[in-house]
Amino acid sequence: MSKICKVCFKNFTYFGIQFFNKNICICSTCFNELIPIFRSFYKDGIHYQILYDYNEKMRNLIFNFKGCFDFELKDIFLCRFVYELRLKYRGYYLVPLPSSKEDDEKRGFNHVIEIFKCLNLPFINCLYKKIHYKQSDLNKAEREKVYEKLDVINGEELTNKKILIVDDIMTTGSSIKAAIKYVKKYNPKVIKVLVLCHKNEK
Ligand SMILES: [Zn+2]
Repeated sequence: MSKICKVCFKNFTYFGIQFFNKNICICSTCFNELIPIFRSFYKDGIHYQILYDYNEKMRNLIFNFKGCFDFELKDIFLCRFVYELRLKYRGYYLVPLPSSKEDDEKRGFNHVIEIFKCLNLPFINCLYKKIHYKQSDLNKAEREKVYEKLDVINGEELTNKKILIVDDIMTTGSSIKAAIKYVKKYNPKVIKVLVLCHKNEK
């Protein structure tokens, strides 16, 4: 049986891993260009997991998805990890890092929610941006103040739950740190972080 690759549109037939994972929706060439790193570490007592290397291919795909509204790409990011992640984070509630309302409306979807939807875990959309900002436009001093730009709504939903904060690209980690600070206020059972990739600043 052949499928069409969601990235390059070429027809492809099953290659090895797909016998075990029917969620794979990209061809072997595109598959091999995305480099999984599956890196875990602790920062301030919180467990972080990073799934991919932020290479040229990943950068372009995220840009096409998020910036050019190529909605079909939503399935390509987590498809190879989906079973593993569902097992690993069973019982967790997903808290996505927020985009500004304007960006979500323009795009017609929230890119972080769409990427992580395939984990079949419930979302708690309690974080939002009070002020419209783009992380990449902020200088170091402004990034320290990201906390003031976010806010929380219906935070009591977080209480006593296992929380997994999710995002696409982590740069300095200041938004995630701010999110953790807000989530902590409501005494969840556990907080962990899962991001698609980590972009190192030059
Ligand atoms: Zn392809």
